[in-house]
Amino acid sequence: MRAIGDRPAAPPDELVVLACPNCGGQCVHHDRVDIYERSEDSNGLHVRVMGCDARPQRQPVVSVDHVLDENPSDRRQGVSIRFWCEGCSLRFTLDLAQHKGQTVIASRVEP
Ligand SMILES: [Zn+2]
Repeated sequence: MRAIGDRPAAPPDELVVLACPNCGGQCVHHDRVDIYERSEDSNGLHVRVMGCDARPQRQPVVSVDHVLDENPSDRRQGVSIRFWCEGCSLRFTLDLAQHKGQTVIASRVEP
């Protein structure tokens, strides 16, 4: 498994641009952030921030519940950030998940 940060190819303060997994475009925007907080295998908290780009009203909204069904981590904390691409309109999500002491990063295309 490849690790980010163990041997950085660029200086730590250099920015890395996120690209669209479909067209490779570098103009992508996040419009939704989900935070899942819990200790191992326990109930927890889900905080969702819907950004201006995700809502017709163009106003951000925050919601809080205990639904962990979409938590990218099976047993612990996770964060999901949804993006959309200016070039091809694809929606994709970047997931950070705690897994056996490691933090894993994955991306998936939204249906
Ligand atoms: Zn694209």
